[in-house]
Amino acid sequence: MTQIAQQLAQVQTRIAEAEQRFGRPAGSVTLVAATKTCSVSAIRAAIACGQRAFGENYLQEALPKIKELESENLEWHFIGPIQSNKTRDIAAHFDWVHSVDRLKVAQRLNQQRPPELPPLNVCLQVNISGEDSKSGTTPEELTELAKAVAEMPRLSLRGLMTLPPLNSDFEAQRQPFRALHQLWQELRQGGLKLDTLSIGMTDDLEAAIAEGATLVRVGAAIFGRRPPKDA
Ligand SMILES: *Cc1c(COP(=O)(O)O)cnc(C)c1O
Repeated sequence: MTQIAQQLAQVQTRIAEAEQRFGRPAGSVTLVAATKTCSVSAIRAAIACGQRAFGENYLQEALPKIKELESENLEWHFIGPIQSNKTRDIAAHFDWVHSVDRLKVAQRLNQQRPPELPPLNVCLQVNISGEDSKSGTTPEELTELAKAVAEMPRLSLRGLMTLPPLNSDFEAQRQPFRALHQLWQELRQGGLKLDTLSIGMTDDLEAAIAEGATLVRVGAAIFGRRPPKDA
């Protein structure tokens, strides 16, 4: 087995164990492999193990990979910050976008989704911790944005996503996820048909699954730690 195959299997085991430990149905958490900075050959190693869903953060990096892997019929998730001049390519080349955080971006994606493709699956990114450095809508603005996106015919509003502050303490990791789950429940009680809670990465996927994640986005645990970002 390649190292990537082994690490992917370990992540699948972590997910299955967390489902069991926290009373979640087996198979209720989808794994999206986060492939920023990964080569096409690393992605192919995961494909060889049956992984179909991949997440990318940067459009310029993603487009050549998507093109090269076109015949594999993969599911591509855009998970990075969205500049509004990039929406056309995102709408044309991705199946999901997890990082919609403002009306203008949603409107552009809705207008630019090619007519021959099904509606683009969308999660709204919420800045649950209120950190200045994080993108995401505020919890206060969320309801209005969600209602507007739910009306857009070329978008399919699926759920919420957040990137919590780093914390190595398990109970502390759970808190922002619990807060997001609460907002998700409120929107559902308000009549929106949401089925996706996109929370959890390498270091906090158990906490996310404990708090109701339906989709985790995992990179480092599968592909190895990335070199620290240049300043
Ligand atoms: C990089 C990234 C991930 C994966 O993080 P890891 O710590 O490598 O598992 C998930 N979500 C987003 C938005 C990311 O940028």
